[in-house]
Amino acid sequence: MILDMFNLKGKVAVVTGANTGLGQGMCVALAQAGAKVAGVARRSCAETAKLVEANGGEFLEVIADLSSVEPVERILNETVDKFGRADILVNNAGIIIREDAIDYREEDWDKVIMTNQKVVFFLCQAFARQYIKQGEGGKIVNVASMLSYQGGIRVPAYTASKSAILGLTRALANEWAKYNINVNAIAPGYMATNNTQQLRSDEQRSGEILERIPASRWGTPEDMMGAVVFLSSAAAEYVNGFTIAVDGGWLAR
Ligand code: NAP
Repeated sequence: MILDMFNLKGKVAVVTGANTGLGQGMCVALAQAGAKVAGVARRSCAETAKLVEANGGEFLEVIADLSSVEPVERILNETVDKFGRADILVNNAGIIIREDAIDYREEDWDKVIMTNQKVVFFLCQAFARQYIKQGEGGKIVNVASMLSYQGGIRVPAYTASKSAILGLTRALANEWAKYNINVNAIAPGYMATNNTQQLRSDEQRSGEILERIPASRWGTPEDMMGAVVFLSSAAAEYVNGFTIAVDGGWLAR
């Protein structure tokens, strides 16, 4: 039956940036769909653990700083040690550093590209190797952005990294579809999280953004839940290399 295709019972999901915002919401969604969840964050995921467990799920906290590739293997190993396997990787952790392009500092460029792009690739690679070893395929869901499609303002490194995520998602899908590994992405629109705190507190920018969103509101972590479960499930078996916008219609304008 169709709803059974969305059921993630017996699956193990890893979500980076699990302590807050969209990552937290996606942990809850995956747990509600039946998956065991390993949440990766550089600080406590206690709140997420509580939410997952309140939804009948099992949660493993993996403390790791994704400002380098150093913890990549450990994230996979801790997950497999605890849950025996890995089936779903959600590359959600990301940072944004705002500055005029003309003044943008090399160290800020490197920080953003490292976490949003380089670490994402090496997590994909580590998990794909595990999926191939397990022999049953697997899912990778990257988190892109409206700035995978548009230029943005004062966020050149973020735009570069999120545009790269869209391309990387396609590139990896091409190579790994033959192993039944589905690599896709979700491009959130303007969502009310820490990521947009600065924007939302700027009355003028906030007003301009809201005015342009057909749905007339900022998105929420709950808005990501359907897309992440879909892309993590058997229902998306023939979906490869695609980035789904969850944006209240922003890109349709
Ligand atoms: P957020 O609340 O800032 O969440 C970002 C997450 O990434 C946090 O858990 C953060 O941990 C984690 N993170 C950042 N650097 C890390 C590092 N070095 N090591 C480990 N974890 C790290 O914002 P969000 O909106 O939920 O963002 C989630 C994803 O959605 C990001 O990739 C973001 O770019 C993307 N996105 C957001 C929007 C939006 O409008 N909000 C739109 C498009 C795309 P800390 O809490 O410790 O910083």
